[in-house]
Amino acid sequence: MSEQKVILKTEHLVRWFGALKATNDVSLDIYDGEVHAIIGPNGAGKSTLMDEIVNRTSPNEGKVFFNGTEITKKPPYEIANMGLCKCFQISKLFASLTCFENIQIALLKKHKKVYDFVPKRADYLKDEVMQVLDIVGMQHNAYETAALLSYGDQRRLEIAITLAMEPKLLMLDEPTAGVARAEGYEIMKMIRKLAQERHITVVFIEHDMEIVFNYSDRISVLDHGTLIATDTPENIRQNDFVQQAYFGGGTQ
Ligand code: ADP
Ligand code: MG
Repeated sequence: MSEQKVILKTEHLVRWFGALKATNDVSLDIYDGEVHAIIGPNGAGKSTLMDEIVNRTSPNEGKVFFNGTEITKKPPYEIANMGLCKCFQISKLFASLTCFENIQIALLKKHKKVYDFVPKRADYLKDEVMQVLDIVGMQHNAYETAALLSYGDQRRLEIAITLAMEPKLLMLDEPTAGVARAEGYEIMKMIRKLAQERHITVVFIEHDMEIVFNYSDRISVLDHGTLIATDTPENIRQNDFVQQAYFGGGTQ
């Protein structure tokens, strides 16, 4: 296999919450262009790890590098502007606004025109807004109110809002949580398409093993804050811990 370019690197990340070590010496390489799943039981430290990467939670020890630049202590907005973006759920949607307006606001933020909060024209940045909605297949929902969308479409809209930042690496914490499996598959298909067509690297946390094994290039397994394995889906499926935790038995 040819040498892989590493886009994101964590080195020995440790995060304590009181006496609890939420991440224990996590060193992980994410390859440019891959779709990488992070799995592990509840409380394993998956969300904490993502938050440390974008410095929403500061690690007690360790370093994070994005495209070779150390970002460990950079403020989250600066990390996002570099192209390392985490998708935030629900809370980031303006529920009473339309999809169009939600994306418009995200673009205003990107263009640093946030004080133009009430755009002078309703169709301000229309082409750009429609382009972003098109990526997630939601052009036809443009003038629907966010609160009235199906849960799955709300997840899509959140992803679209994050895409307005033009990420190089997109991080998603359980993008299909609370969504029916068929719709979850559609969301993952869209995410894979994004990765391929726009060359966006994706790191996602997921608890549905069918989705994990169908939609990732590589998988990392966390347990009690420790990274147990990072490997291809085929190899992770054979991993003893994964067999015990997810398939209720040892390898045959
Ligand atoms: P996961 O996303 O894998 O379910 P988390 O990263 O959310 O796990 O949590 C890892 C551990 O850290 C859990 O035991 C959780 O209770 C604890 N934890 C997470 N955030 C905090 C916090 N802000 N304060 C105290 N404990 C926390
Ligand atoms: Mg979590």
